[in-house]
Parts: sequence; structure tokens; C-alpha cells
Amino acid sequence: MEEEVKKSQNFIEEIVEKDVQEGKLGGRVQTRFPPEPNGYLHIGHAKAICMDFGVAEKFGGVCNLRFDDTNPTKEDVEYVDSIQEDICWLGFKWGNIYYASDYFQQLWDLAEKLILDGKAYIDEQSAEVIAQQKGTPTTPGVESPFRNRPVEENLALFRKMNSGEVKDGAMVLRAKIDMSSPNMHFRDPIMYRVITDHPHHRTGYKWKAYPMYDFAHGQSDYFEGVTHSICTLEFVVHRPLYDWFIDQFADTDYRPRQYEFNRLNITYTVMSKRKMLQLVQEGLVAGWDDPRMPTICGLRRRGYTPEAIKNFISRIGYTKYEATIDVSMLEASVREDLKTRANRVCAIFEPVKLVIDNYPDDAQETLTTENNPDNESAGTRDVTFSKELYIERGDFMEDAPSSFFRLTPGGREVRLKSAYIVKCTGCVKDSDGNITEVHCTYDPDTKSGTEGGNRKVKSTINWVDTKSAREVEVRLYDRLFMVENPSASEQDFRELLNPDSLKVIKGCIVDNQLAEAKPLEHFQFLKQGYFTVDKDSTPDKPIFNRTVSLKDNWAKKN
Ligand code: ATP
Ligand code: MG
Repeated sequence: MEEEVKKSQNFIEEIVEKDVQEGKLGGRVQTRFPPEPNGYLHIGHAKAICMDFGVAEKFGGVCNLRFDDTNPTKEDVEYVDSIQEDICWLGFKWGNIYYASDYFQQLWDLAEKLILDGKAYIDEQSAEVIAQQKGTPTTPGVESPFRNRPVEENLALFRKMNSGEVKDGAMVLRAKIDMSSPNMHFRDPIMYRVITDHPHHRTGYKWKAYPMYDFAHGQSDYFEGVTHSICTLEFVVHRPLYDWFIDQFADTDYRPRQYEFNRLNITYTVMSKRKMLQLVQEGLVAGWDDPRMPTICGLRRRGYTPEAIKNFISRIGYTKYEATIDVSMLEASVREDLKTRANRVCAIFEPVKLVIDNYPDDAQETLTTENNPDNESAGTRDVTFSKELYIERGDFMEDAPSSFFRLTPGGREVRLKSAYIVKCTGCVKDSDGNITEVHCTYDPDTKSGTEGGNRKVKSTINWVDTKSAREVEVRLYDRLFMVENPSASEQDFRELLNPDSLKVIKGCIVDNQLAEAKPLEHFQFLKQGYFTVDKDSTPDKPIFNRTVSLKDNWAKKN
């Protein structure tokens, strides 16, 4: 049993478990989820969230939410709010909320200390020149001509950087480490830059010099008492610098440690916030929560559940190798989750009237139907049945081959779902030859739920009583991009958008009970897929989003 529990742990949980057992840092576990509030969270962030919050939960620790808000040009309270909403929706609870911007003064003081120690200097070269001087991993970099400025001058200039007198890009503060280090991040990394004309969403215009990620992140972890600072693999090469900065200031033995796992990449989408922002700003999608977006709010609007997302994350697991996950795995997770969650209902996408000639004209009866054969506790519901019903146009064929088991004149018997067996007698057409009505007769002794209801026929079709029918709009979503990896293409990713990623069908017929459904309620439209109510839906104009089809028909199509 113990063995089993161990096996189900990911490699980071194993490290944490060992640290706890050995009593490292007093057996304390403290993690953080550190989003930059420059966009909405996406499914990749969900992977980090499940790790950061999951580890804390599992080992009796705490996970804090820290907004890594060190770049005012891209950040906004809109994002701060949405990030909190999405984490809560996923079902996680943070201990505290922190902001890197709360540490601006502390970070500033540390930077001044580094200057006084002769370990940081002001460089007045342009970003391009500094980049050129970096060298390559195999050739050493070139030292800046400003590298050996006197301490007093560095200190005066650093203060000037924050006074508003220095233009953006005119100077930076660099750590003085080693321009020939094999680790490029040690080649005098930039610690501070100037941003004058963008108010910070929390500190306004108070600061003009802002710390860079590498300087801010480790210190923030240290200030907060983080034990395990978990991030993605691209930060492996930053780790020595993370440790170096902390070593410059730490006045105790305590050290936060950074651990890295593989980031999530998914086929047929983009997950860079910069690219997602472009899609939103250029109107190529309907917003961050467009149901085709890989954002948490997009997936939610699409009909994904937190459970489906978390099951997916736990299935793909955590490794130390980059890989791309097929989006069909994500779709399979939501399909599986909705199977027991979503009530089955009939929805007719392309309706035609079915008239039962031998059914009494004014009669209407109530039939009881199971809500969900895969979930007994879902109970039953009543639907009305009368002489005229809507059925799917495709369920009738005038001249049908013998392999067609649905309605055709003189054809076989067909069961109307949860109702009676009928036999097609013909159809009525308008002057243009379009079929306007299909006619049939029914066998009153074959009602579902009665003894005659047990009689088996080849095929069952869906219907909605015209007397209870309600027109709704249905939105069918497909993959946002036509190619598996739009970011790897030489073409601009926006040219690779799938033109058929949204198909709107108006005039679909459902039972009017469904018009009362609320956003985030889930349904299986029989034979069509899983659907949820869109947030723009109203009882007057109901709108349903397809979450996912019933089967993975993409694989077949291609
Ligand atoms: P972008 O580069 O698009 O802005 P980011 O990685 O900078 O994204 P952050 O807000 O800094 O986004 O990320 C917060 C946390 O989420 C970080 O710890 C980061 O490693 C993690 N994260 C971001 N994207 C992914 C992903 N695709 N898979 C797993 N973790 C991710
Ligand atoms: Mg980032």
C-alpha cells in the first residue's frame, strides 16, 4: 500500500517528502504560485497551480499567491482579479496574497547594498550593445567600459535612475559577476531598468526603476519564507543566479530552493500570453474567455469542469523533459467527466416535422425519461409527446438504400426515444420539392416503460414535441489552429487560424425546459456532444456551447 502511494507521487513530491522526513527547514513546506498579472491564466498555468498548491496541501504546508508585478508596462488589475477568480474556480486556496511590488523598497535597499559592496554598477550602454557584449556559451563576453565606476558614482546614478531624470533605456544596474562565466546568466545580469511613463497598477508613479525577474524572484521567495520554489524547466539555467543573489544578502542559514518541471504544451493552440493578447486585441477571438482559447476562463465558458482539468493534469504528470501533449487527451478528460455529470437531452439541429397520422389530434401525454443512464442518481424528468414532433432531417430519407435503418416510406419500424415505435408512411413537399413534413403511424402498444416497450427495433431516433419546442442557438467549436504547433511554423501564427473553428447554428430545437438552464450547467445533446449554456445566454435567446463531441472525430477526419 505504501509502495503504491509512493509510486503515484511525482518527482518533486518525492523531493519534498524526503525534505520533510529529514526535517529540513523544520519540516516546513511553503510554496508559491507566482503569475505575472499580464494576461489571463491558461491550462499551462493550471499545471503549475496543481503542483504548487498540490504539494503544499499534500504535506500540510501553505501555498501563497504572489503577483510577480515588476513590469508596469504590461500589467493590470483586470488580470490580478481574473487570476484569483480562476484559481478559486479550480478549487485551490492560497494562504496569503503577496505582490512583488510590496518588496520594491526592500529590493532597492539590497541593490544599494550590492553597489556598496562593489558588486553592482550602472551601465549606460544601450540594450543592443550590452547584448552584443554577452558573448556566446563558448566565447567569453566583453566587459562594459562602465564596469569599474567608483561606488559613489554608481550609487548616485542608481538614485538618479529612480528620480525621473533618466530616460527609459538610458541606463541599467548590472550585477558585477563574471563576463566569462560558462553560465550566460552570470555575465553581469541586469538587475534594474528604467520605466518612467507607465504607472504601476499598485504603486503608481512612485518608482521609476524596476527590478528584473532574476533579482526580484529569489529575494521575494526569501522574504516570504518559501521552502520549495517550483517553476518550469527554462529556469534551470537561472537557478545558480537565483542562489547567488540570495547568498549575497541572506543573514540566516535558511535558503529557498528552486525545482523545475516540464511546462505544458498542447497541440493546435498557443499558450504564450503575448500571442493570446494579440488574438484578443486584434479581434481574432471574442476575448480572453472565448471558448476556443486555452485560458481557464475560456475552458470554463466552453463547459470544462475543474475536475476535468485536474484529472488531465494528473494524467500527463510532471517530468524533466519537454513534450507536447495532444489536445485530444484534454478532450478525453472532459468527455469522461461529463459522462456522469451531464443529463441527456434531445436537441434537433436541422429540424423537420414528423406527423403521427393515427395519434389523436388534440392529445398530449407526458412521458418519463431517464436523465442519465450513466448516473442513476440523476433521476428522471418528464417530457411531453403529441401528434407533431420535430426530428432531425437526416433521420428521414425518401429513397433510402436497404442499409438505412431510420425513417423511409415503407421502411422498417423505428423507435422514438423513450416513446413509441413508428413506421414511416411518406412525406409532404413544398412547390420547390423541399420536404416540409414526414408522416408516420405509431403502435400504441409499444410505449417505453410498458411491456410493449421492450420490443427491440434496429434504430432509435430523437425528437422534441412541437408543443414544447424552443428555438436556441448552438455554437460548435473546433480547434483554433489548423496546424499542430502554430508557434513552430515559419508563417505568422495568425495566418494559421482554423477558419472553421466556430460554427453557429441558429434555429436548433430543444425542449423549452432547457431555456431555463444556467451557465455552467452541462448537458449531453444525444448523438451530438456535450454542451453548456453560454454566459451570454438569456431565457429569451438561449445559447449553447459545444464543449466536446461525443467521440474523437477529429482523428477520423484527418
Ligand atoms: P508567458 O511567458 O506567456 O508570459 P509565463 O510563463 O511568463 O508566461 P507567468 O505568469 O510568469 O507566465 O507564470 C506563472 C507560473 O506558471 C510560473 O511558475 C510558470 O513557470 C508557470 N507556467 C507558465 N506557463 C506554463 C506552462 N505552459 N506549463 C506549466 N507551467 C507554466
Ligand atoms: Mg513569466
